[in-house]
Amino acid sequence: MSGRCPCSSGDTFDACCEPYLLGVANAPTAETLMRSRFTAFAVADVDYLRRSWHSDTAPAELELDPDQRWYRLDILATDAGGLFDDEGTVEFRARYKHPDGAGSMTEVSRFVRVDGGWRYLDGVVSR
Ligand SMILES: [Zn+2]
Repeated sequence: MSGRCPCSSGDTFDACCEPYLLGVANAPTAETLMRSRFTAFAVADVDYLRRSWHSDTAPAELELDPDQRWYRLDILATDAGGLFDDEGTVEFRARYKHPDGAGSMTEVSRFVRVDGGWRYLDGVVSR
């Protein structure tokens, strides 16, 4: 699949988040994992959302609202989460469209490295 990646990186999907969703590569940094999870929300890849969620905090049930269309991601700040880190945080704003109205969500997410791969631990929604 070509076309722009849903995570707003400007890269094509196959050169950006797709390898992570397919499980053929590990996101190297907390930010790339964050981007790939946004993409998974955008394409409704529940399986990837589960796999990239820390087992301690992953929800038992995960259902996405099919009417909520995530269309833009802005990374606002990152702290650690690099190639040689074991934890990190990413602050982002995600925008969506919905029949009930458009909106955005801003969150500071925490990520940890487990067995060499990054996992989403939890997050605090700020607005
Ligand atoms: Zn991407």
